Amino acid sequence: MHYMTSIAIIGAGISGLRAAQLVSSQAETTIFEKSRGVSGRMSTRYNGDYEFDHGAQYFTAKTQEFSAFLQPYIQTDTVALWTPKGLQEDSRNKYVASPRMNSLCKDMAKDLNIMLGTRVEGAEYSSGKWTLSDDCGLSLGEFDVLIVTAPAEQARAILGEAVSSPIQTVSHAANFTIMAGLSEIWSGSWEAMRPDDEMIGWATVNSAKPGRNIDFTTLVIQSRNDWAETHKDADRDWVQAQMIEAFKTLTGIDVSGAEVLSLHRWLYANVTNPLGADIHSDPSRKLIIAGDACLGGRVESAWKSGDRAGRKAIAWCK
Ligand SMILES: Cc1cc2nc3c(=O)[nH]c(=O)nc-3n(C[C@H](O)[C@H](O)[C@H](O)COP(=O)(O)OP(=O)(O)OC[C@H]3O[C@@H](n4cnc5c(N)ncnc54)[C@H](O)[C@@H]3O)c2cc1C
Repeated sequence: MHYMTSIAIIGAGISGLRAAQLVSSQAETTIFEKSRGVSGRMSTRYNGDYEFDHGAQYFTAKTQEFSAFLQPYIQTDTVALWTPKGLQEDSRNKYVASPRMNSLCKDMAKDLNIMLGTRVEGAEYSSGKWTLSDDCGLSLGEFDVLIVTAPAEQARAILGEAVSSPIQTVSHAANFTIMAGLSEIWSGSWEAMRPDDEMIGWATVNSAKPGRNIDFTTLVIQSRNDWAETHKDADRDWVQAQMIEAFKTLTGIDVSGAEVLSLHRWLYANVTNPLGADIHSDPSRKLIIAGDACLGGRVESAWKSGDRAGRKAIAWCK
């Protein structure tokens, strides 16, 4: 089918994919994603047979509309309830995608037109059209509507002067994530913990989440965002050694000799001061800025922002 309106979406995380799910039946839609796969901060890292959900750990569904959205994915086991042993917190249902955190976004991405491995470097608006260019300065095409879902810092880099003031103030804090793979089956008494510690913010037995391979153990150990923000430019070996030591003090488990061991730095992990609105939209240029920068650093917030972005873009198509 050929549509009158063309829409470009930057970013194939949950917000960009949600927007695309809504607009793709109304407009010629192209998603540009710089990574080799979809999911953004809901990604899964592979290391041989070991798999780690190294970004978002779980999500909640506080609103009826997000619950309703999840239902078909729950029916097909793409999303499952997760009740980790040992986590003493609120009783709200926790969900994970299954068998990996990226499974939900991969399912959402089916049938969408996605240009993977394509980093949008620039976006120029002129005479009613957005022209996007890649990191070699080559044109990626002209579009009537532009939806940007990259983290605010990256959105600003793409849009330059085209972005108006509200989004200028949004920022994200960093996070360090250690992924440790152990060849033995997990026999510990806990599956997730949020320790009261100045460095370690979260740890989980990833392999104990629903649908994972339990023949060996995968541990995901995440720093606190404020600790990572302070040390984001520190030597990676030093960061890893500090976190391993802190985790050992907390749990008695030494992962320094793990079969698989790596550290990931998320530069833009968690929003520190969100916009406080579903989206930022500029009708005069048909520009929408969406993603977790708008309502806060949660999967559900990002989804809602993408949902509203899609609805706004559809209204502009009419
Ligand atoms: C370590 C960590 C732990 C977290 N834990 C939780 C949790 O337990 N529960 C929870 O609810 N939330 C958690 N979150 C937050 C949650 O993951 C995010 O809020 C949500 O996934 C954001 O979705 P998004 O679509 O807005 O952004 P993203 O998922 O970041 O998607 C944006 C996409 O844009 C792409 N992109 C960026 N720049 C460009 C460019 N120039 N060209 C093309 N593509 C580009 C990126 O590659 C990315 O795929 C966590 C996040 C992190 C990092």
